[in-house]
Amino acid sequence: MSETYRVAPGSSVDLSRIDTRDGALFAGDKAAGKLALPALNERLEDLQEKLYAEGKHRLLIVLQAMDAGGKDGTIRHVFDGVNPAGVQVAAFKAPTPKELAHDFLWRVHAQTPARGMITIFNRSHYEDVLVVRVKGLVPEERWRKRYGHINDFERLLTDEGTTILKFFLHISKSEQAERFQARLDEPDKRWKFRKGDLDDRALWDEFQAAYTEMLERTSTAWAPWIVVPADRKWYRNIVISRHIIDTLEGLGIQVPEPEEDLSDVVIE
Ligand code: ADP
Repeated sequence: MSETYRVAPGSSVDLSRIDTRDGALFAGDKAAGKLALPALNERLEDLQEKLYAEGKHRLLIVLQAMDAGGKDGTIRHVFDGVNPAGVQVAAFKAPTPKELAHDFLWRVHAQTPARGMITIFNRSHYEDVLVVRVKGLVPEERWRKRYGHINDFERLLTDEGTTILKFFLHISKSEQAERFQARLDEPDKRWKFRKGDLDDRALWDEFQAAYTEMLERTSTAWAPWIVVPADRKWYRNIVISRHIIDTLEGLGIQVPEPEEDLSDVVIE
């Protein structure tokens, strides 16, 4: 699993050739795929508890996507049943004046996971080479240097004991249109729709180009990108869940032994 949909470091990426509706792991069988998720949720719940108990490793999960790409749904479904005390979600919006007064990684570093914790970035420092690039918020000579700064930053985190997994939820332009339409049609979902989302949609090709370069330049051995076929939500959830589980299983987590011999303890 660990290699599936992973962007090999230094490889070139053509997003238009990566099928957003791929379902290869389940031969497109939605019923089987949906049935598989509860068992994965239980496995993740168990692994998270062990990660917390051991208190040694940290896991950082980065989620990036076009609008309506499914970041929120991923968090809800993949982490269903996991103890909220051990998981933090950090959402990165347009920077505040105070954040803008610092370098772009300042607000990000402060949200990275502590030992024993899982942190999910809902958007991330990658916005600083995505929306910032597409909207021309800083000059090119400045954002272009950020690929290297990001790789160095992520190297620092992994050298210090953080494991990083980065997921790009890859949806098609027509799937985005359907999801926007559903948001407009269903009164309970309307709050999710911003007119500004249409401005970004008009820049679809520019965003895809920015995502492509991001994937090519920042998928590293220590912090890989996984391009998740995300038009089908059930499939997206399974792919992400399996990657996280494989990664946690690979850490060799050991639940600590009690500090003293408890074999003679009797609770009256
Ligand atoms: P979401 O779409 O993630 O559910 P919002 O609708 O509040 O949440 O969108 C957050 C907005 O913040 C996005 O439009 C995103 O482009 C913007 N944003 C995030 N980080 C930055 C950044 N570093 N610079 C400029 N804009 C940013």
